[in-house]
Amino acid sequence: MAIPRNNNKMHSPISKLKLLSIFFVFLFVGSCTKDDPSDPNDTNNINVFNNRQGTGSSANDILSDDTFKSMVIELVYVEGYEPTQTAINNFVSFLTNRIYKPSGITVLKRAIAKLGQETYSIEDIAEIEREEREIYNTNSKIAIWAYFTDGKSDKDTAENVVLGTAYWNTSFVIYEETIRDLSNSSLEPSRSLLESTVINHEFGHILGLTNLGTPMQTEHEDTEHEHHCNVESCLMYWATESKVSLGNMNTVPQLDAQCLADLQANGGK
Ligand SMILES: [Zn+2]
Ligand SMILES: [Zn+2]
Repeated sequence: MAIPRNNNKMHSPISKLKLLSIFFVFLFVGSCTKDDPSDPNDTNNINVFNNRQGTGSSANDILSDDTFKSMVIELVYVEGYEPTQTAINNFVSFLTNRIYKPSGITVLKRAIAKLGQETYSIEDIAEIEREEREIYNTNSKIAIWAYFTDGKSDKDTAENVVLGTAYWNTSFVIYEETIRDLSNSSLEPSRSLLESTVINHEFGHILGLTNLGTPMQTEHEDTEHEHHCNVESCLMYWATESKVSLGNMNTVPQLDAQCLADLQANGGK
């Protein structure tokens, strides 16, 4: 997910208001290729490869309880960039409302030391996961890696700022430092609102939306922004135009009826 930014660096509150009131943009999903099982760095645990598949490919495993009865979310943040508890609670509520995991959803949170890079490529982010991730799928429990980083995405441009990316079947990154730069001032959304929006949007891709592993029940993929919904009010819309300042927004966008129907047809609630 990305948000456009003003060319003149947002020095004045006016330009910031303009920025936040005009566009709210979501970017595409991951650019990480699948890991090769012959990778010599990973020979001691074959199970890691079940968690290094394409984004959306485990949608049915996550949505249904056919194979996996419970979920564990390994939530790791760079020291100083912990997400709000409100956003974590909102994420668990979002999951509880959409997926069948009768044996529960558990969040295991921990910090790692700052790496201190100014920018990270998605390959850098994947490498951090390879180093730090401790929990992988077991027979009945599916594992998710949620990483909150310092620094910026190397995809940030003068026009767009990347706030999060889903890059494997059970992995996503949130650019927490960027979120903090764009939240909690008087003309900006609250941090927990922005965090929740980005987390839920990225996880929507992991759930196979839109047309990304969860088959569409009706035609609603945005023809100009692949794997996004063409309903403007939907969580999975690539951009939400707003006539009012985001600072006045107080709810996280929801999935529209067509995205919900897709998830239900693929084993979800
Ligand atoms: Zn997206
Ligand atoms: Zn939708």
